[in-house]
Amino acid sequence: MEKVTEALKKATVGGEKKAKKDKKTPDAAAANVGPLELEPPPSFLQDRIDLFDRLFKEQQAELATKPHDDILITMPDGTIKPGKAYETTPADIAKGISNSLYKRTVVARIDGDREQLWDIERPLERSCKLELLDFNDDQGKFVFWHSSAHILGEACERRFGCSLCIGPPVDNGFYYEMALPDGAAVQASDWAPLENIVGKIVKERQPFQRLEISKEDLLKMFSYNPYKQHIIKDKIVDGTRTTVYRNGPLIDLCRGPHVPDTSRIEAFAIMKNSSSYFLGDANNDSLQRIYGVSFPDKKQMAAHKKFLEEAAKRDHRLIGKQQELFFFEECSPGSAMWLPHGMRIHNALMGYIREQYWQRGYDEVMTPNMFNVSLWEQSGHLAHYKDDMFILDVDKEQFGLKPMNCPAHAMMFRHRERSHKELPLRLADFGVLHRNEASGALSGLTRVRRFQQDDAHIFCREDQIGTEVADLFDFMRSFYGLLGLTFKLKLSTRPEKYMGEIETWNQAEARLKEALDDFATSTAGVSWELNAGDGAFYGPKVDIAVLDCLQRPWQCATIQLDFQQPINFSLEYQTAEGVRQDQIKPDSSKPDPSKPAPAWKADSQKVDAPKNEEETGAGDHEKGKKKPLLVKKPLSPGCARPVMIHRAMAGSIERFTAILCEHFAGKWPFWLSPRQVIVIPVGMGFLDYAKEVALLLKKEHFHVDVDSTGNTLQKKIRNGQLAQYNFCFVVGDDEMKNRKVNIRYRDDTSTQARDVPVPLDEAVEKLRKLNAERGMYNPFPPVKEEKA
Ligand SMILES: [Zn+2]
Ligand SMILES: [Zn+2]
Repeated sequence: MEKVTEALKKATVGGEKKAKKDKKTPDAAAANVGPLELEPPPSFLQDRIDLFDRLFKEQQAELATKPHDDILITMPDGTIKPGKAYETTPADIAKGISNSLYKRTVVARIDGDREQLWDIERPLERSCKLELLDFNDDQGKFVFWHSSAHILGEACERRFGCSLCIGPPVDNGFYYEMALPDGAAVQASDWAPLENIVGKIVKERQPFQRLEISKEDLLKMFSYNPYKQHIIKDKIVDGTRTTVYRNGPLIDLCRGPHVPDTSRIEAFAIMKNSSSYFLGDANNDSLQRIYGVSFPDKKQMAAHKKFLEEAAKRDHRLIGKQQELFFFEECSPGSAMWLPHGMRIHNALMGYIREQYWQRGYDEVMTPNMFNVSLWEQSGHLAHYKDDMFILDVDKEQFGLKPMNCPAHAMMFRHRERSHKELPLRLADFGVLHRNEASGALSGLTRVRRFQQDDAHIFCREDQIGTEVADLFDFMRSFYGLLGLTFKLKLSTRPEKYMGEIETWNQAEARLKEALDDFATSTAGVSWELNAGDGAFYGPKVDIAVLDCLQRPWQCATIQLDFQQPINFSLEYQTAEGVRQDQIKPDSSKPDPSKPAPAWKADSQKVDAPKNEEETGAGDHEKGKKKPLLVKKPLSPGCARPVMIHRAMAGSIERFTAILCEHFAGKWPFWLSPRQVIVIPVGMGFLDYAKEVALLLKKEHFHVDVDSTGNTLQKKIRNGQLAQYNFCFVVGDDEMKNRKVNIRYRDDTSTQARDVPVPLDEAVEKLRKLNAERGMYNPFPPVKEEKA
């Protein structure tokens, strides 16, 4: 059943077409309501129930025959509760502790295994460790939302007589996808009636009942529904059993688990509807999706709606439009058109990062956008990443637009012999990357097809990992600290299947832990968690979640160690002890008998070295059976493999800009601001002086404009503030005569009404300092004496 769930999870990504912007209004809800539910109900409901009831009785009878042996249930605090197999439920245990615990508990987890969630009303079958999860647990929340999707599905069947497809939990709630009879579409006016039916379902306290069922019975049960038929035939192996769950008249193919009954869903709301394709494939039937969100109590729902309101105000797509930063065109989906003001932000960010690179010893490089697929074969990206890449036919060869810079940087490292003296080598690249995201998944700047990263790869010796990672943490502290972003760190360590030698892993992990501990103790508010066994097979990594001012987590920075690519690309450097013996051919080199055969050895013997391009006829080999670009070769004597560290601070500059847009709510700090100063003449007589002031600021590379409209002073100041200029420089007679400006600061309402006359030269000097420091303060505090 895991496979079905995975397939369904995948189907939830992409495939979604443009969401309709239907607004839910009381008027729309009142109109076109008609009968709330189909009368009579669709006939498949009763057929399904009849089959379920018969099989459920058989199952219960069989369960009753199981031996009720004594079992021991170990709670997270170590206490051990006695119970009986096939009798004691997690719900019994919860109630035995307290009724409020029972009411709070959404689902149980067995033996600390995230794959073993258990319905709390389902009897335990053996001794185990037991955790009771509530809505605040991430898995508890998913089960809660997943259960809510069943309730929404039930309401939809009752109202539309539709064929349900899939109903998974998603990041902020859940959805159900379905086909309405005659290809009808869900209307905004359906929302209120559906919520009304959901209200009834919740009141009915329908229990969720679990039934194990054979593939044959499943096909019978869902004979009316071509989508479920497809999923069953495609994903369930013949002769195996899976589960369905029933609540009220709804029976759904589902691995479970769920909340014990529908009354748990105290607060429920439909959030939007859209159309999509079955399994996310545009060649399939068009379907309807309804999104909802739910909570165990109404207070949480109210808080969630308030949060959404605040987030909507900060939506970067809205701010991008208001401030003329960027837009998208249908002729290039997922690729932003950066307008001049957006580019100012982009360049300010890049400027900061380049300055850090200078201080931290990075070298910037530039690499091609397009490579022959043989490069992607060499790096292993083609095998895992092909669907996400744009592949082009050029000269009868296949090329791929680069989705990442790593292989190009590996090529740069191996471009010539390297000495230990050159390490660490830090190659930075703002190169344009392309990833073929599904059109339905594209969203503003956060999900794009074309983007740039502040990407860099550090090639270093194993004993340099600690200092390199420590510098990355320091980089992060400077960068995020400057922007007022906080972050959380997780270390993902060696998984069960891993490559390379265990000592390499142990040492690398020990160094990462040390660096994390140092960082956490030296930086207020920073802590880290261990995510044991969750590293990639090719190296451990540090996951960094950045929290914006709404405490929303974002994945921006990456620190990932890689022991694999150096092997794929045969990267090596001459060690301090080593003596380079250039003339030794790979084939004749003898491995050190005291060491185990390295992992790449088997591979390297399979590939035949092409002598040169002409002889092997690079152009006409079979598709899919390309010759390797480079021949993997064993380490040369006296050489060692470098470790490759993939790292980014901002990650995608596009996405990072979106995050900053929302984090600052469009009120950019001075150094990032695309509109820094507006000069406002109090009347047309002072326009020339205003222009002179602006010219002076422009020479200093500030983004400055002059308001030359005939608006009232009041209105001009108001417009300047709405456009988020950091400073309004108001100039009139006094200012002109004394070469002064009267300054209002956007971010301090207490000074906005006051006059702060400052000599022009002094104003320029202070702005220069503010910009250089990338400060977020007011360099022009009002001084009372000057006013007198
Ligand atoms: Zn389910
Ligand atoms: Zn990389």
